[in-house]
Amino acid sequence: MKINFLALSAFGVLISISVQAQVIQQSYKDQVETLVQDPAVKKAFDYILRIDEQTVQDMITLTEIPSPSHHEEEKGKVFAQMLRDAGADSVWTDEVGNVIGLRKGTKGQKTFLVEGHLDTVFPFGTDVTVKQRGDTLFAPGITDANRSLAIVVALLKTMVHENIRTKDDIWFAGTVGEEGLGDLKGMKYLFREGAHPLAAHIAIDGGGLEDIVNGGIGSLRYKVTFKGPGGHSYGAFGIGNPHNALAQAVVAFVPKADAFTKEGPKTTYSVSVLGGGTSVNSIPYESWMLVDMRSESQEKLQGINQLFLESIQEGLEKENAIIRRGKALTVDIEKVGDRPSGLADPDSPLIQRTMAIAKHLSGNDPVLSSGSTNSNMAFSLGIPAVTIGRGGEGGGAHSLDEWWVNKDGHLAIQQALLLILMQGGWI
Ligand SMILES: [Zn+2]
Repeated sequence: MKINFLALSAFGVLISISVQAQVIQQSYKDQVETLVQDPAVKKAFDYILRIDEQTVQDMITLTEIPSPSHHEEEKGKVFAQMLRDAGADSVWTDEVGNVIGLRKGTKGQKTFLVEGHLDTVFPFGTDVTVKQRGDTLFAPGITDANRSLAIVVALLKTMVHENIRTKDDIWFAGTVGEEGLGDLKGMKYLFREGAHPLAAHIAIDGGGLEDIVNGGIGSLRYKVTFKGPGGHSYGAFGIGNPHNALAQAVVAFVPKADAFTKEGPKTTYSVSVLGGGTSVNSIPYESWMLVDMRSESQEKLQGINQLFLESIQEGLEKENAIIRRGKALTVDIEKVGDRPSGLADPDSPLIQRTMAIAKHLSGNDPVLSSGSTNSNMAFSLGIPAVTIGRGGEGGGAHSLDEWWVNKDGHLAIQQALLLILMQGGWI
């Protein structure tokens, strides 16, 4: 509810969408009721419970293999073997390292993607051993997203064991580069131009059953480096100073960014890390900053981006206008992050199905929100997509104290299975 309150108060144009988000059409509720009464579905639900311990064990196995973004190969190999053992029709690793297990459909005219991400935010050297205290499992990355990967395996295993095939082909996948500077590498590859078309995308990378992510907050991240000759602070005085140019750029940017972000969909900016310089009596040869800008709206994101790039030029020109000798300063603008934004209509079938299932299984009203997940890519392309939860209880994501408890964890797997059956046209 908190998220909806924020959406209502801050996002203006999204008011109606947030209100509608609470409305689940009766036809979808009816479909869920029919589905859960089906003997085949009941059997599949039982099977998910029967393999619950193994699913937790898979999560532990995967968690203990380090896999920082851009280094997912080792975990990918183990995950691929899990998909083979689960009975995938075929398993392959694509050019960027996404591991995909195919469950052929009865018609196979369309393909949809169900995935968790292989990478974590933890660098090599982090202790990723899983430790158990009471009911609680502790390890960096245990929920985000090794639990998701174990769910992907459990889903495939269940469909194979229970001989369930949807009409559409399904790709059960572990994907690369979701976190930080991974910058959605795996998704950008899967949704690149000319790729095998994916008709829908279900990402398992969220919280509770009723927490449904139907929007992607886009982001742009830059490393900007102003460069000059550098020299003695007294002896070389008069050459361009990169720190001055950077400071002028920030001074130019902030008032414009402030005015621009006061209205409309939430849009943010942060000059986050600064560096450069060697000693107090030296004019630096470089000055750099890492900057993060985000918005739910692609238009606003492009707008603030424009202001930012203009301000960089302004800063550069201001410093170059006062140099007394030496070469003009230059600037390198390196884009280190680019995640598109987008929003799936709450009335669209995939979101309606997800909400109806969540309501049935949790008893709670579903809450729609926007986030930064793998489904940003599909949202931005207008392809049906949603990010759903991993189940159980967890916390401390992206910290060394990350934890998870198997409190009704199977419900998230059942939720994902129902969604697959509904989305895939199960017959
Ligand atoms: Zn994640």
